[in-house]
Amino acid sequence: AKQGGKNGVRTFQPTMGSETAERVDVERDLREALSRQELTLHYQPLYAAPAGTVTGFEALVRWNHPTQGLLPPGKFIGVAEDSGLIVPLGAWVLGEACRQAAAWQAHGPVSISVNVSPLQFDQPDFLGTVKEALQSSGLDPHQLILELTESVVIRHPESAVAQLQELRALGIRIALDDFGTGQSSLSLLRRLPIDILKIDRSFVQDDGGTLESAQVMVGVMVTLAHSFRMAVVAEGVETEGQLALVRALGCDGMQGYLLARPLSAEAARALLVTTLPI
Ligand code: C2E
Ligand code: CA
Ligand code: CA
Ligand code: CA
Repeated sequence: AKQGGKNGVRTFQPTMGSETAERVDVERDLREALSRQELTLHYQPLYAAPAGTVTGFEALVRWNHPTQGLLPPGKFIGVAEDSGLIVPLGAWVLGEACRQAAAWQAHGPVSISVNVSPLQFDQPDFLGTVKEALQSSGLDPHQLILELTESVVIRHPESAVAQLQELRALGIRIALDDFGTGQSSLSLLRRLPIDILKIDRSFVQDDGGTLESAQVMVGVMVTLAHSFRMAVVAEGVETEGQLALVRALGCDGMQGYLLARPLSAEAARALLVTTLPI
């Protein structure tokens, strides 16, 4: 059984393997990292399709670890979720991303997408945290996109739908992340107040498959999204073939290493000022 409690206290069990002990270390270090401001955000550009102009950025958290260097979220988000640290971490991400995006508006309208974990979304004061980030940054809510996975909605669809409606009433857009990898049904999808479907990169890249089968999957998802009046963004565009495909199939937005990797805040700003359409 998992020992992580609400306050993150873990009791060491003799049966715990070294992997568990390591997680306890990560949790302690992460708690300190938050107060020492070792977390930082990188920003991956989001491009309009087929035009190829930059319309926004997705904020992606990194841990500037004192000894291990820049750690990707895969190294610590799991521990943050299990320990509850994702709540203060997520609030920091939201505040910082909104602050940064508000500053970028001087160069023209630009959206900011923020990933929200299920535990964060389920906090009774989540709406308050979002409002606070908007208020203190001065960011126009229409420029904020919250990215959620199907797992957020699947457990308590009724209350999730109600909260999504409240967020949308503020002008915030909602994106369903990693679409196609979860197990939500079409009937659930139809009921969800969602603005954007993000097609998981496994479908765009069609791991081990061909461009033709990617074409079928992406094509179906574009039709689905558009019939629900949702915009559709293709993730993980890595090749010219995939780029041509998502443009031809009518995706509204696209992201991927071919277009741009996640960038530091300074590099993101420079791109915003100088970039030409792809
Ligand atoms: P995600 O939300 O699906 O974000 C996209 C991930 O795919 C990012 O990895 C990005 O760097 C990577 N990516 C983008 N384009 C490509 C591509 O063309 N090819 C490949 N192979 N990868 C690409 P990253 O930054 O390591 O983030 C991993 C995951 O960590 C994110 O997946 C998201 O679920 C989570 N995450 C990141 N930042 C936050 C955060 O602030 N809060 C929460 N709750 N989760 C976060
Ligand atoms: Ca995302
Ligand atoms: Ca994703
Ligand atoms: Ca993902």
